[in-house]
Formats: sequence, C-alpha cells, structure tokens
Amino acid sequence: MAHTQGATWRNWARTAAASPYRSETPRDLQELSSLVVSGVSGGHQVRAVGGGHSFTPAAVTDGIHLHLDHLSGLESIERFGDGTAHVTVGAGTRLFTLNALLAAHGLAMRNLGDIDKQTVAGAISTGTHGTGARLGGIATQVVGVRLVTATGDVVDVSRDAQPELFELARLGLGTVGVLAAVTLEVVPAFRLEAREEPWALDAVLDGLDELVDGNDHFEFYWFPHTRRALTKRNNRVGDDVEARLNPVRAWVDDELLANAVFGMVNRLATLVPPATPAINAVAARALSARRFVAPSAEVFISPRRIVFREMEYAVPRAELRGVLAEIDGWLRSSGEHVPFPLEVRFAAADDLWLSTAHGRETAYVAAHQYVKMPFKRYFQAVERIMAQVDGRPHWGKMHWLDAERFGQLYPRFADAQRVRAEADPTGVFGNPYTDQVFGARHPQG
Ligand SMILES: Cc1cc2nc3c(=O)[nH]c(=O)nc-3n(C[C@H](O)[C@H](O)[C@H](O)COP(=O)(O)OP(=O)(O)OC[C@H]3O[C@@H](n4cnc5c(N)ncnc54)[C@H](O)[C@@H]3O)c2cc1C
Repeated sequence: MAHTQGATWRNWARTAAASPYRSETPRDLQELSSLVVSGVSGGHQVRAVGGGHSFTPAAVTDGIHLHLDHLSGLESIERFGDGTAHVTVGAGTRLFTLNALLAAHGLAMRNLGDIDKQTVAGAISTGTHGTGARLGGIATQVVGVRLVTATGDVVDVSRDAQPELFELARLGLGTVGVLAAVTLEVVPAFRLEAREEPWALDAVLDGLDELVDGNDHFEFYWFPHTRRALTKRNNRVGDDVEARLNPVRAWVDDELLANAVFGMVNRLATLVPPATPAINAVAARALSARRFVAPSAEVFISPRRIVFREMEYAVPRAELRGVLAEIDGWLRSSGEHVPFPLEVRFAAADDLWLSTAHGRETAYVAAHQYVKMPFKRYFQAVERIMAQVDGRPHWGKMHWLDAERFGQLYPRFADAQRVRAEADPTGVFGNPYTDQVFGARHPQG
C-alpha cells in the first residue's frame, strides 16, 4: 500500500488543510480493515477523503488519512425487469468514472449534481444533490453500503440489514465507518433536452410552481444586484429527438463564457468592487438562450474552473421567495458586492435521517463568493436569513451551525447521535468538524 508521512493535504476550495500523521492508499479491503484496526490500537483517528470537494473541513484529520483510489470501479450489476438495476461500485469511484461505466452498460444515474469530480462515498456522505422536484439527492439512490467498522469488521448494510447503521452509512459524514463499496439504484440510460434562457427574476418567481413541477429538472441562477436570472430546464426526450449542440458553441458557452470570461468578471469585481452591480447587469444580459439534447450526464455536469467558496441552505420550498427578498434587501443595505450568481435548485421530500430535504419539499439556495474576495460577512448574513425559516446547511458547504441547532432542525438527530456513539464508541472516525456538528464527545466516550 502507498504510504506517505506528514504531507499537507488541501481541499479544492482552499478552505481546509490537514497534516495527517500518515496518508495511506490501501490496495484492497483487507488492507483497509488493517489500517482501521491500526488506527484504533495506536490511538489515531482515521478519516477517509474523497475528491476533497467539500468546503467544510469534513475530510480533515491529523491521524490516518485514507485515499480509496484503489477501491474504485464496477463490482457487480443486478438487472430488473423494469430496466432499473442495482450497481455496486468501489466507494472511491469518481462520479465521472461511474457515469462512463454506467453508460457502457446502457444505464445512468437518475439525477446528479453540477460536477463529477467527487467520489461516490464523498458525494453521498455529505448529501450531494442535483435538482428536480420529484427527485432526491444521490444518497436516496443508495440501496446498500459495505462498511469497515471500528472493530475492522466488514459489514453489508441496507434497509433490511442493520437499517439504523445504513442510515448513517449512506449519509453521515463517514462517522460510522469507512465506506468500501456502495450499491446504487440506477435507471436505463436517457437523454435530456436542455433549455437555458435568461429571464427576468420576477417572471421566474411568479411562475415558479409551474417551472419547478412542470420540468424534470429546473434550476435558476440569480445575478445579485440585478433582477435578472438564467433559467435551466432539463427534460427527458425520446431517441428520435436530435439536436446536439455544435461543439464550438458548447466550448464558447461552457469554457469561454462560463469559465474564462466569468473569471475575468470576478477579477474585475475584485479590483473595483463598486462596479459589481454594473458588471452583473452586463453579464446577465450577455447570456444568450441555447437548446440542446445530450446523454443525461453530459447535461447535468459542467466544468467548474473558477475557484470559489460556497454556502448552500435547504429551505422549505414555500419560503423561497421570502428568502431571496431578504438576501436582496441585505445586499442593498449592506453595500456588500457579490459578482457570483446565487443558484436555486429543488428536491422532493425524503426520509433519510440526515438529508437536508428530510420531511419537506425543498428549495436549495447556494451563495458563492470568488476565492479572492471576502466571504464571511455575506455568508453569515445569508445564514441569519436562513435561520428564520429553519434552513439546513449542506453538510459539505460552509456554515457555522452546531449539534444543538441540528437537534432542532432534524427530527431524527438524536437517533443519529445514538447510532454514531454505538458504532464508534472511541471516536476513531471523528474529527473537529464531526464534533462540531454531532457533539463534542460521545455519550459513552
Ligand atoms: C465545484 C464544486 C461543485 C459542487 N457541486 C455540488 C452540487 O452540484 N451539489 C451538491 O450537493 N454538492 C456539490 N458540491 C459539494 C460536493 O459534492 C460535496 O462536498 C462532496 O462531499 C464532495 O465529495 P468528495 O468525494 O470530494 O468528498 P470529500 O469532500 O473528500 O469528503 C466528504 C466527506 O465524505 C467522507 N468520506 C469520503 N470518502 C469516504 C469513505 N470512503 N468512507 C467514509 N467517509 C468518506 C469524508 O471524510 C468527508 O467527511 C460541489 C463542490 C464543489 C467544489
């Protein structure tokens, strides 16, 4: 197994760093299990890291840092009569690898987020989601998890086998063990027609229910300091519809406008902050409409080359309009300058204990700030606004909440704390971030 000592690790957004005692890349399940046992016996915490794409220090440790690059790829496919399948992959499989291997078997994920650099384990452990009023996040598509527990044992958990442990294994920040493999429910490959159009924000808000419920995947970006938005409507289409985007146009939209020009916009706003409203007004108007059809994963995923910081809150869908009005009001009165659009997405209510959409139809509001601009004052103002409507922060994005507040926000939070304490009595799978969000010490610790 590959082994390094004392190397510094940093996350994608440069908001978290770690200098672990040891970094290990186990070659197989047996080596992984031995490493967990050695962590327990040596008094070191053990933390797996995925793609490092969380903004929170969720994957940080000064103990043993595990990289599961070798626990990657397809293990098995079980097909069903309705075309769906259960696909088991190594927990360290990157989403881009997963999408490619599913496509090769005529299959696809039902829904995905914006990017594909994460690992399957990392994505589900923080509740990563996309958009779609009838759909849940990636963890809702998990039907089984193979877990290495604090004793080094390997257990397969699901709704039928140790269902409480399964709850935290599929969405629990890696606090009940190291995920070694994940079984996902997937669907036959499908294509999406994407319609992207600039709209007036008020037109979006006035027609919101129709837009959200009338499309398979609806989202919009609101340009702060303006009343403009970019809408995205993605809907399933049959095989007869043919309308691929010309590759030059795709490059202009995805690379030049979304990354290169947008990078310049952010640098300009950093140099001349008071010009931000004017810059945003031009940027929002410069976007042109486009329509294309492509395999689902190509439509869901966009390249993200501009580094930013992000906070994202899940709020009851009915509260969205009020929340956006409050943020608009705060931006006007505070004099804060924000070149980055806010992203608004939607999800169905689900029953996962720690899902941000637990028990309620959800709207997600994501605030971003360019890496070279201060973010704290803006994000803390957004957090205060979200608190008024019992907003729940994304587990992998910036926030300042603690276990006491999570106890008020999640009806099954006490159960989650109990299962964590039972599964990991000595706290081998903990770190300062999990102590912040689940409580500093386990009841029996
Ligand atoms: C540019 C960008 C775009 C993003 N887009 C979206 C989006 O569209 N939707 C969305 O919801 N989120 C999005 N995110 C957030 C991202 O999906 C989550 O933070 C996700 O957790 C990152 O996955 P990762 O593999 O990088 O995991 P990491 O950040 O490395 O780890 C996340 C957590 O999982 C744990 N973990 C990882 N592997 C294991 C394992 N094998 N066993 C146990 N625990 C493990 C880690 O310890 C940590 O607690 C985005 C982030 C960035 C930077």
